[in-house]
Amino acid sequence: MRCRWRYRGAGALLALWLLAPSLLFAQPRVDQLEARLSDLAGRERLELLIELTARYRKKDRNKAVAFGTEALDLLESFPDRDLELELLNQLGLVHIRAGKYQEALRYGLRAERLARVADDKPALAFALNNVGDAHRLLDEYDPAREYSLEATELYRQVEDEAGLAESLSDVGVAYRRVGDFSKALEYYLRSHRAYEDIGDRKGAARVLNNLGIVYRNLGQPENAIEFYQQALEIREQDGRKISVARLLNNIGVAYEDMGQHAQAIDYYSRALEIKEKLGNERAIARTLNNIGLVYQQLGKFDDAASFFGRSLDIKERLGDEKGTASTLFGIAAVHRGKSEWASALDTSNRSLEIATRINARDSAQRSYLQLSEIYTEMGRYLDALEAFKKYEEVKSSIFDEGNREIIAEMQARFESDRKEKEIEILKQRQELDTMELKRQALMRRALVGCVGLLLVVSLLLYNRYRLKTRAALVIEEKNLELEHYLTELEAKNAEMEKFTYTVSHDLKSPLITIRGFLRLLEKDMLAGDAERVRDDVDRVQAATGKMSRLIDELLKLSRIGRVTNAPEEVAVGELAREAADLVSGQIDERGVEVEIAADLPIVVGDRARLLEVMQNLIENGVKYMGDQEDPRLGISWRRAGEEVVFRVSDNGMGIDRRYHQKVFGLFERLDPSIDGTGVGLALVKRIIEGHGGRVWVESEGAGHGSTFCFTLGKNAGVSDLAEASDLSDSSRSGGITEPEAR
Ligand code: ADP
Repeated sequence: MRCRWRYRGAGALLALWLLAPSLLFAQPRVDQLEARLSDLAGRERLELLIELTARYRKKDRNKAVAFGTEALDLLESFPDRDLELELLNQLGLVHIRAGKYQEALRYGLRAERLARVADDKPALAFALNNVGDAHRLLDEYDPAREYSLEATELYRQVEDEAGLAESLSDVGVAYRRVGDFSKALEYYLRSHRAYEDIGDRKGAARVLNNLGIVYRNLGQPENAIEFYQQALEIREQDGRKISVARLLNNIGVAYEDMGQHAQAIDYYSRALEIKEKLGNERAIARTLNNIGLVYQQLGKFDDAASFFGRSLDIKERLGDEKGTASTLFGIAAVHRGKSEWASALDTSNRSLEIATRINARDSAQRSYLQLSEIYTEMGRYLDALEAFKKYEEVKSSIFDEGNREIIAEMQARFESDRKEKEIEILKQRQELDTMELKRQALMRRALVGCVGLLLVVSLLLYNRYRLKTRAALVIEEKNLELEHYLTELEAKNAEMEKFTYTVSHDLKSPLITIRGFLRLLEKDMLAGDAERVRDDVDRVQAATGKMSRLIDELLKLSRIGRVTNAPEEVAVGELAREAADLVSGQIDERGVEVEIAADLPIVVGDRARLLEVMQNLIENGVKYMGDQEDPRLGISWRRAGEEVVFRVSDNGMGIDRRYHQKVFGLFERLDPSIDGTGVGLALVKRIIEGHGGRVWVESEGAGHGSTFCFTLGKNAGVSDLAEASDLSDSSRSGGITEPEAR
């Protein structure tokens, strides 16, 4: 077990001086301390709680967590940075020991932040160590290594040797886990030296065992054995039985690597003896299995069968399925060795069946190969071929062909997207060049005009001044036009890039679904599972349906730029009624009461497009009504200075202020559980902007209803005012055409 009190090392002398008197009268027992708790309150209680957290850390984790949590609460009333740091670090450690690594990570990161602010190096080293440990235990080796490395640096600075030794070893483990054995060796060796320097035998033995493991990974079992033996010596002297058994087992494995079977069996048997004394069944079963494997390799099938049998009994009793599959595999090999084909087949199949059921693909792969070999030896070549095919299949599925394909395809797609973009940019450049040429030609023409004018001037003095001014004006106007054109082009370009990105992203997702289910479909068809085939087909159909809807909407969106109908006079009131008729099905179904202001004005615009706007807004109002019991929707208008604002209001779900802009983006949807494509409002925005107007939403947030507002720009010449000036402006006349946003 590791000692984490070390980071106070810097203040050790001071602490010793302070504690000297209490050392004379031994430290109070932890239960005595706990008893004091009931008399204490406030800051004193807080300090005692923190001490209890630390003292109970090894003894009773649950208590440690409970005290620590209470202390955290108390800290709110008595804030103190040093105490908080100490507590967070203790809590981090307690959670690591309790196997709650995510929580440990959280406390560790909080402590790290605080320690950095406080510039408290010992505490920071402690926190970094905790964070590194938590990452490692979560199998996140890269961050684990980075944190542990920073911890080593700090421990070195504050000269905390024990901390340094431990964090060096942690870095070694992180390197080993990602297969960088030479780095792992380097750090383990440094850690070992550090443990030796401070005389920490336990730490040294742990690192020696790790060194053994790395050497085995490097294919050097002789070196591995040397390190294991050194560790074994220490553990034997210290009487650590579990560690001794583990080391004996490790040495056995290394001897097996070297092909020295007798030695291997000897070490395994010694390990077994200890494990049996300790009564650790899982470990016993593992060692029995190891011994069985050695005998099987030696061709001593009866011995092998007896060890495998004992191992199997225990594993089955413990319900260890993976272990059972592996031992059955061994037993099948024994039958095969004894040419007992029927039993070999039977056991191998049992092992395969379990491995398949628990989805242990490496075990399944091994079993298929074994089956194929058994069939070959029996002369059943067709069966052998079948099994071998399965073996290849599982193998390639482990390598995940699928993933590789997808990655390759994504890369290809990315490349082609990039090319398309490049071509697009080239085209635009060309366009710009042509425009520049046009501009120059214009200038030239203007100049010629000027020269011509000068000639005429000499004849017609009267006209000279006027004509010259007009020519200059023309040039200026053309220049302005060109500049405007250029900015518009840039904006379009940016919009286009965003558009292509969003479209390809959203079309890809149903595609991926389709590809995935086609693959499953193939598998399920081969397996003849009709029900799943039906399900796969349904899903593919649903995804194609979604794609086709997306594409339809997109076509609509893209047409807006191209198809424009001649502007005409449009009576908005009539338009609203027509739109409401088009969605009357949904309106009736939801029981929405629709109120259309009687005095809506007349505008000039593209009628078909404006109808789409109304229809979309009404449809949304109904669709996002939520669970409103009295659903209402209103279409009204009001004047705002020079402008006329049209309003479509509902008392439905409402929209949080954060998403007021977002909802107009392409494919943006706030609630994916409600059917939709996220194109409607983007369409509305483009149409309104095409008319030179603006569109926005007003809503007090969830549950308060929404009001979608739009204006129609100058060109839409709201002729309100001629037509309906007397009735107009419901807000002024106090009409009831504007339902309030709820
Ligand atoms: P969709 O096809 O999903 O309806 P839209 O572009 O029309 O796509 O709308 C985008 C999103 O804005 C919707 O998914 C919804 O979350 C939100 N939204 C649109 N109209 C309303 C409304 N009247 N009330 C609440 N939320 C709305």
